[in-house]
Amino acid sequence: MPQGSVQEMPEKVNDRFEEPVYVTRAFMPPFEEYMELMRGVWDRGYVTNHGPLVQEFERALGERFGLPGSVFIVNGTIALHLAIRALELKGDVITTAFSHPVTTTSIMWEGCTPVFVDVDPGTFCIDPARIEERITPRTTGIVATHVYGIPCDVEAIADIARRYGLKVLYDGAHAFGTTLNGRSILEHGDVSTTSYHATKIFHTVEGGSMHAGDPDLQRRLVLMRTMGQWGEEFFIPGMNAKNSEMHAAMGVANLKYYDAIMAARRSQWEYYHELLQGGPLGLARVPEGIGYNHAYFPVVFPSSEVLEHARRVLNAGNVFPRRYFRPACTQLPYVSRQGECPIAEGMADTVMCLPLFHDLDRSTAERIVEMLLGALKG
Ligand SMILES: *Cc1c(COP(=O)(O)O)cnc(C)c1O
Repeated sequence: MPQGSVQEMPEKVNDRFEEPVYVTRAFMPPFEEYMELMRGVWDRGYVTNHGPLVQEFERALGERFGLPGSVFIVNGTIALHLAIRALELKGDVITTAFSHPVTTTSIMWEGCTPVFVDVDPGTFCIDPARIEERITPRTTGIVATHVYGIPCDVEAIADIARRYGLKVLYDGAHAFGTTLNGRSILEHGDVSTTSYHATKIFHTVEGGSMHAGDPDLQRRLVLMRTMGQWGEEFFIPGMNAKNSEMHAAMGVANLKYYDAIMAARRSQWEYYHELLQGGPLGLARVPEGIGYNHAYFPVVFPSSEVLEHARRVLNAGNVFPRRYFRPACTQLPYVSRQGECPIAEGMADTVMCLPLFHDLDRSTAERIVEMLLGALKG
């Protein structure tokens, strides 16, 4: 009898959640608290263009998280584009083979050629030991992702960048809240970006930010956000990447719950870890010295077939985990470098992220794990 056959169905159908359990769910602050902030926006009639709530949110990013030069913008994708422009990357740009497609497409749309480097199978992040062999005189920068909120080896990358005179940009879309030796991971690189999309651990509905330590870079990022304009003068070519008071209000309202969001996520993550460690699935390796944000719970299956079987069983139980990231960047149809980065491509075939969100309760997590392990035995 093949796996997942009709014979198994009655039992599986019994073990089914009434409501679908998706991979993530946006945290919503109390409605009244958001509306209280909206009252102020209504009274002021000031809805965008670096309004008071945008300023308050940016100030909080600096004061509370120690983030340098916080520039709040529309999303994490445009953040990458503006950062690549501000850093004046040209020619070849080294990048990771395992990330969201926009890490690659931002490089391409900004007129550079992505040069892919394979990943460390434990952390899912770019493997620094493989970077140097791909550097040529055409290389101008490195764009790397802190995958699932687990940091890249930022020290090794900084060392390579220093030796070859390369700029470093981190796609920290998953990494808000992750720290290294007690400081935000977004302090690293010439520029770090993050995303506050509704699916990320901390959100402003849509949103993103860029962080640079260098004052000249900060100034360029600020100007680029607003059509290159400051006051009534136009300084450099720019675009409109401003975010609104409505979005900033969601950030300000959610900040009050940041500690609670992080604590809940940590306990859920640790619960999954406790149930799954030593079992048949590969788990992420979080390096020493990291304050992890527990943004995602990826599991690595022995093969794509086993993964698909487990997914069918979970879907039948009304559980919808996500294959994330698939395909690998080298396998994107407009890239076609299939085979260049076998570890990342293997990961893309075998990784799935389990449901993880602020109010996922223990009994739900436990039943998901039971379904998952049951599927693997079948
Ligand atoms: C979500 C994501 C982005 C894009 O962020 P948006 O705010 O959705 O534009 C970029 N990189 C990675 C790794 C992401 O997961």
